[in-house]
Amino acid sequence: MRLSQMLFVTLREDPADAEIPSHKLLLRAGYIRRIASGVYAYLPLLLRVLNKVSAIVREEMNVTGAQECLLPQLQPAELWQESGRWDTYTKAEGIMFALVDRREQHLGLGPTHEEVITAVARDMIRSYRQLPLHLYQIQTKFRDEIRPRFGLMRGREFIMKDGYSFHADSDSLKATYQDMYQAYSNILRRCGLKFRAVEADSGAIGGSGSHEFMVLAEAGEDEVLYTEDGQYAANVEKAVSLPVEAVPSTFTEFKKLETPNTPTIQTLADFLDCSPTQIVKNVLYQVTYDNGQQVLVLVNIRGDQDVNEVKLQNELTKLAGTYDATALIALEVPDAEAQQKWATQSLPLGYIAPNLGDDYIQAGLPQVSSQFLRLVDETAKGLTNFVTGSNESGYHTVGGNWNQDFKLPKITVDVRKAQQGDRALHDPSQILQSARGIEIGHIFQLGTKYSQALGATYTNEAGEENPLVMGCYGVGVSRLAQAAVEQSYDKNGIVWPVAIAPYQAIVVVPNINDADQMAAAEQLYTALNGAGVETLLDDRKERAGVKFKDSELIGIPYRIVTGRSLKEGNVEVVQRATGETTAIPLDQVVSTLKDWIKAALEG
Ligand code: ATP
Ligand code: MG
Repeated sequence: MRLSQMLFVTLREDPADAEIPSHKLLLRAGYIRRIASGVYAYLPLLLRVLNKVSAIVREEMNVTGAQECLLPQLQPAELWQESGRWDTYTKAEGIMFALVDRREQHLGLGPTHEEVITAVARDMIRSYRQLPLHLYQIQTKFRDEIRPRFGLMRGREFIMKDGYSFHADSDSLKATYQDMYQAYSNILRRCGLKFRAVEADSGAIGGSGSHEFMVLAEAGEDEVLYTEDGQYAANVEKAVSLPVEAVPSTFTEFKKLETPNTPTIQTLADFLDCSPTQIVKNVLYQVTYDNGQQVLVLVNIRGDQDVNEVKLQNELTKLAGTYDATALIALEVPDAEAQQKWATQSLPLGYIAPNLGDDYIQAGLPQVSSQFLRLVDETAKGLTNFVTGSNESGYHTVGGNWNQDFKLPKITVDVRKAQQGDRALHDPSQILQSARGIEIGHIFQLGTKYSQALGATYTNEAGEENPLVMGCYGVGVSRLAQAAVEQSYDKNGIVWPVAIAPYQAIVVVPNINDADQMAAAEQLYTALNGAGVETLLDDRKERAGVKFKDSELIGIPYRIVTGRSLKEGNVEVVQRATGETTAIPLDQVVSTLKDWIKAALEG
């Protein structure tokens, strides 16, 4: 492609609305244009990158035996009602764009395809002989994200590869899951990314197994905890660890003390000159279940620990049945306005004790449970002679013990947030480290959730009908493209990994009025493309400096300059990643570049 004929517009200045380097660079270098919040035009250079990523994804999927298909983006509400997700996706989380057609039928724009694929499987899979089966697709997904941001990282319209596998039993699912783990690792390695596969939260569906593939970058929205021995890595939402040991309490007598201005753990620990590990902290949450029932939740946890809200959500989902509900639609810390709706008097915030009375909740409210749901975290359960609130502002109690001074809640949970510095479970001498990551892929053992809901069954060898066992696997193709930039740029612009660069080489003619320069460039341009090296030709009427800057900004791996050294029969080849310049005889350019590219793709 000749730059003189391309839609090629680069910006000198950083665009005002871009916050992270990769977003700025993709805009500046003319890869994308914003059309609306979270909606982007993928310009020709970016499309080439997306196609390369997709090609790698296809190769790695196909070798596992998965088959490509293409499912509808327009999905009928009925399918989502069958799985029970229509209301959560369109109302509670509101992530699905929904519309009504001219026949008054409700439809959603696909954010994901479990329902559609399960409906296909229900119709087409009859027998164990057809299993296992794995279908995948690469297509645009729609999600009405609350906070679309960072360009392609969190779009409302983005490209995903999603795959769904069907099995007769969980052993077969595990085998495919293992293949996908390998395929995803291969994809990221081949795209030239530094990544880590981490244990991920699999939500309330079940603990069977889930991994996320995190591309390591400071701008990542996720936190990963890992140990240096390489034995453990998990998303902080899921991570487990040993907390530091509690310091034994010196308060041997149970009494109430005046503790003015100590609403936080730190102010209290300073005032009493005690360790936060001697304090039982009482955290209030408000959960709303899918039947509209609201429950106030009081969690007792050790003072130095924080509640992991993902773990808490999972526990509360398990308890949904107690409230005649099946799922949770919201979990929040009730603010003053929310408290007014149910509290009989103002709450002693910052001074709450584990025995906060149920009479704080107005009786007779139809949608609000009249009793606190009391949960004790394992870290608080083991404490003795502890410090905690007194239900009176400005006062705490010290020397408290469970079942003596406070009733121990019946339900014990593990909802503490693992944190950097904790000891690892597998080897307490290993200390958890923290890193930021961008979630690029997610693989998931679904089990029978969707097949049961939609009635997708198969007949086994003994003639019995069973629900299909399922797995699902997603890679953010457009997010991956931007994540590659986030991991690889310098002050002059993007530095694409060779495997996914839009073009591998660019021939730059410093002066298009110099006939020799033009002739050599044309000849190289034709020879390189002919030999399969994807090459651009910068034949624009621009100063040499501008051309060099642009080639660096757009990040093409090899720049070939037909400049002064032509007189000696050479061109200069500059490697984008290192800035290294080599003089290469004209007749060796093609073979040299082919060697370099081959080495880069293998490396
Ligand atoms: P996140 O936690 O980042 O919201 P998710 O868990 O909702 O992602 P999945 O449903 O697992 O995402 O989708 C599979 C992959 O699709 C993700 O790993 C990610 O790479 C990509 N993806 C998800 N949401 C977006 C988005 N809004 N924009 C771009 N890519 C996305
Ligand atoms: Mg995910």
